Amino acid sequence: MDPISPLEQALHAARALVLADLVAGEVAEADVVSLVEDSVVQRRWWIEQWPEGADYVAGLVAQDVQDALLERYGRWPLCPVCGSGDPHSLDVEPELGPDPHWVCHKAGVKVAAVGSLGTATGGMASS
Ligand SMILES: [Zn+2]
Repeated sequence: MDPISPLEQALHAARALVLADLVAGEVAEADVVSLVEDSVVQRRWWIEQWPEGADYVAGLVAQDVQDALLERYGRWPLCPVCGSGDPHSLDVEPELGPDPHWVCHKAGVKVAAVGSLGTATGGMASS
């Protein structure tokens, strides 16, 4: 028997949350998904060194993917709240903490939990 460790569970959850947000933004192309995989590999090493950080992994993977996308493709995720002005991306808060959210610093609002961008952008709102 080799039960899945809490660390692996945290990594699985982080991967699923960030992928859900990529799907919501319709940017979940194969090469983008590989950016998520790269981040998960790096963060697996990181939480093996510091298991207490398991709750922080979702926010960190989201930021890793955001940074990688900015280098290759551009800003993600674009703010769905501000209707006018320059397009801008959302930021993860807390940068290092549990229960990460996407926030718009321009409007000063929490837009959605990481993993729930789909509901914030008017897609598949739950009934
Ligand atoms: Zn905004």
